[in-house]
Amino acid sequence: MSTESAGLPTFHSWVGGREVEGRAGLRPAVNPASGEAFAQASLLDAAQAGEAVAAAQAAFPAWSRTTFRERARLLDRLRQAMVDEADDVARLIEREQGKPFAEAFVADLLPSLDALAHLSAHAEDLLRDDAIPAEQLLLAHKQARLVYEPIGVILAVKPWNYPWGQSVPVVGSALAAGNTVVLKPAPATTLAGLRIGALARKAGFPDGVVNVVATDDAVAATLVGDPRVGKIVFTGSVATGKKIMAEAAKNLTPVVLELGGKDSAIVCRDADLDRAAKGIVWGAFVNAGQTCASVERVYVERPVAEAFLTKVLEEAGRVRLAGAPSGGEMGPLTLERQRRLVEEHVADAVAKGARVLLGGGRREGRGTFYPPTVLVDVDHSMAVMREETFGPVLPIRVVDSLDEAVRLANDSPYGLTASGWTRSEETARRLQRELVAGVVSINDHASSFGEPTAPWGGVRHSGIGRIHGLLGLREMVHPKYVSLDRGRGPELWWYPYDAETDRLMSGAAVALYSTSFTRRLVAQLGLLRFPRLWRRFGPWRLLANLDKLF
Ligand code: NAD
Repeated sequence: MSTESAGLPTFHSWVGGREVEGRAGLRPAVNPASGEAFAQASLLDAAQAGEAVAAAQAAFPAWSRTTFRERARLLDRLRQAMVDEADDVARLIEREQGKPFAEAFVADLLPSLDALAHLSAHAEDLLRDDAIPAEQLLLAHKQARLVYEPIGVILAVKPWNYPWGQSVPVVGSALAAGNTVVLKPAPATTLAGLRIGALARKAGFPDGVVNVVATDDAVAATLVGDPRVGKIVFTGSVATGKKIMAEAAKNLTPVVLELGGKDSAIVCRDADLDRAAKGIVWGAFVNAGQTCASVERVYVERPVAEAFLTKVLEEAGRVRLAGAPSGGEMGPLTLERQRRLVEEHVADAVAKGARVLLGGGRREGRGTFYPPTVLVDVDHSMAVMREETFGPVLPIRVVDSLDEAVRLANDSPYGLTASGWTRSEETARRLQRELVAGVVSINDHASSFGEPTAPWGGVRHSGIGRIHGLLGLREMVHPKYVSLDRGRGPELWWYPYDAETDRLMSGAAVALYSTSFTRRLVAQLGLLRFPRLWRRFGPWRLLANLDKLF
């Protein structure tokens, strides 16, 4: 649904189940391939954005009491609504964000649909209560469980590079666990985000369960500081992640942060070079390199360096910019400021001695295009080897050993994903063990983002917490330990403290924890003299838990 203003279709936020026109002005949606605005979104002011949190809060009690079956029914309806409009959404993502139509499916739609299907089928199992058998003899008569309870309002603040791939799985996990959601899409991909709100409405979610708000960053910051928000799941840059964590700290609001990366690929001397070259070229240039987990550094062992480089240049040379008569593999960069950053990194590298073997300069004319670029003779004094470039640049460094490759790969403030390319299982295991990252793939790069059971997230400056799969779902709940005692009489350690309590506690310390079997046994027999013990537990309960003594 949209209205028309100044000749452009205008889209609005979804708050409390209604489409709400923002009072804080209009933001054009610009096609990065042409530089032309094709639609616009009205922006909410802070009071209106706060109403989205209020709506989510009001909807939470009823939604949190729905059964998993009911939530699965609505997640299935959302999935079907997304499938029905998938081609249209892919075209919108292509137009607003820039990635080619097929890639919008590969990286945005399919991971979203996969996540919804997975959550609808498995959330109930994954969040089922866990029985927790006691280890402590004196507590062994209690029945205890861990139950997973929804948190409340989840605020999802999302980036522009994967407007659906980064949003729908998180929204789905929050909903499946019984939370309500306020989704804040990135400014550059507002329309793709608002479409999620429209489809949730179409699917029939109760009012206020899914809210999608178009705001500027100052208003987004007020949402982060809203004490009614139960948890923030943020994906974006390290700089904004730090601001969000600082603001959230004021209310002790917990955060999941999915931040940047400087992902490395190590090509070993025994690698299948054809596969490595194809996989690394795709990993570096997919979405024009604007991927948190794109290959941003390659370390190749010297004996295969020349052959690998030849194959990389062949592969990268075949990547056509979108708009070619029969399609094209790589779209424009989404933002001009991103293209300028790419230019700065390439210029810095060249000034410090790097050689450009392919690309290396913007495509002039319409659109924010930058061609696939391959650099060699790079080192870690260059920004292109240390800072996130987030563009289609593949710097390749030759190394003399695997040790050197691992050391350089780990020499980074980031740790999102990494890949190793080898035929040896032993080398594979070594790389999986030694590379510092949230995800390590062998003979592939970052494809686990498309696997709904695989947790996604990084270490160091790449983030905190995980999205996707069991760990992603567990981020959406409070674990609550509950216990039930059907015993009789007071606990041994309750008041009054008297001489008998002193002897009992002192004897229990030896009976339970002495490392000498004989001393334990003697103390255990000593404990049997205490009538309090018998009154509390009775002989059968003590016998049933004898294993806890040995
Ligand atoms: P960004 O940090 O500029 O913005 C991210 C989101 O935060 C946007 O929605 C933005 O509007 C919002 N925002 C900005 N300032 C805010 C504030 N003060 N309070 C609240 N919200 C605020 O990032 P971006 O440029 O949109 O995305 C690119 C970055 O995202 C890259 O660094 C990339 O590596 C990272 N990213 C990480 C992952 C991952 O899974 N780790 C995935 C995709 C992108």
